[in-house]
Amino acid sequence: MKLAQLFGQGKTVFSCEVFPPKRDMPIDSIYTTLDGLKDIHPDFISVTYGAGGSKVNQTTREIASIIENKYHIPAMAHLTCVGADKNDVDQLLADLKADGVENILALRGDVNPDVPPKTDFAHASDLVTYIRSHSDFGVSAACYPEGHLESPDMVSDIRHLKEKVDAGAQHLVSQLFFDNEDFFRFLERCRIAGINVPIEAGIMPVLSQASIQRMVSMCGASMPSKLTRILARYGDHPDALREAGIAYAIDQISDLIAGGVDGIHLYTMNNPAVAQQIAGSISSIRRV
Ligand code: FAD
Repeated sequence: MKLAQLFGQGKTVFSCEVFPPKRDMPIDSIYTTLDGLKDIHPDFISVTYGAGGSKVNQTTREIASIIENKYHIPAMAHLTCVGADKNDVDQLLADLKADGVENILALRGDVNPDVPPKTDFAHASDLVTYIRSHSDFGVSAACYPEGHLESPDMVSDIRHLKEKVDAGAQHLVSQLFFDNEDFFRFLERCRIAGINVPIEAGIMPVLSQASIQRMVSMCGASMPSKLTRILARYGDHPDALREAGIAYAIDQISDLIAGGVDGIHLYTMNNPAVAQQIAGSISSIRRV
């Protein structure tokens, strides 16, 4: 099933993201995560794509295939093009097609200053164009409610986002954010710019000081004072921070759904217990 078909059906789409197990872990360890996620009935599950070469990327493909064929949940495989040429992309598309995976999140990926990027695809929009013209995959793309870190301003970021959609991206998934007003403002700017595809809001529950500081430094998400207070008060109390972080994510989600968001994409961090707790707290909200 192409993901674009999930939207406009009168309910908020709810999806989850998982990442492949670390290199020293067997791929089978993903089953624990997926067993937990299937019970919350996500509309689809996406699998991230590592920057670590072909073995890592075969794992993305294998997990997407497991989600699609063993769990019968639509899968979306992430694919970055910064280290890929057309042959690499052709091979991966053929493998995914053979596995029955129908959806791809087309990304540029982060440029590693120590590794010269390949030159077939300069931007994610080039990858979107290529996949749409060489296959019948459903193609999604990333967006940034607070602007991409490399962007000089929101105007140029949204202009480039429009190019990705014009190239054929049928659905967008947002970077994590903690202030819903940032997302609503972004959504309005997108609609004014003529970006009319469904846009899912990316939500990451705050579960530990270390992980949130790492994520914020990587993606530049701003921290509202409500969240800063939570970290200051509960940061040294893991159980309390976990409870407060889950409550914060639930509050964000219920407000986003009240505001009419197309979908919620939960960054699960391969923690199904947290995903279950969040999904359990919004089960009626999801159906409204
Ligand atoms: P692009 O859309 O190409 O944008 C990158 C920058 O270039 C932006 O600043 C944009 O404004 C600018 N730009 C775009 N087009 C042009 C143009 N024509 N001229 C000039 N500037 C332009 N990374 C991974 O490695 N693996 C993953 O699995 C992964 N999953 C992600 C999932 C989501 C939902 C999100 C939001 C991000 C994910 N990332 C992942 C991170 C992503 O790879 C980085 O944010 C990367 O730096 C940008 O990728 P992009 O696809 O948004 O790039």
